[in-house]
Amino acid sequence: MPAADTVQLLQAARAAQANAHAPYSRYPVGAALATPDGRVFAGCNVENAAYPSGTCAEAGAIAAMVAAGAREIADLVVVGNGPEPTTPCGDCRQRIREFATAATRVHAAGAQGVVRSFTVDELLPQSFGPGHLRPAP
Ligand SMILES: [Zn+2]
Repeated sequence: MPAADTVQLLQAARAAQANAHAPYSRYPVGAALATPDGRVFAGCNVENAAYPSGTCAEAGAIAAMVAAGAREIADLVVVGNGPEPTTPCGDCRQRIREFATAATRVHAAGAQGVVRSFTVDELLPQSFGPGHLRPAP
């Protein structure tokens, strides 16, 4: 993905982050993903007074992608406000894995922008995925 597209994704992630519902953690997160055909979907964390009912930014972006009929992530940016770049939590690494390919890149961003980029295999090595349930013939 060209750098300009990563910048566009970061902008979309930050726009979603601005709408995060994070009154408990006070850690608003935004995520934006691009499909191979260039469609962009964004999400933010949506916390809940019943803590486990909250959802992550990546989950919202993936749900929007799936609802629109898309099934593959080309690039995904996650952004938070902490001193370290925000990386997906363990649950979200598995969520991303479901719709990732070897070419998928996950970009961790903080206040200074995208800091590090990863393959999904780097974030979730030896992962369980759709291929385990649908072995090649
Ligand atoms: Zn998460």
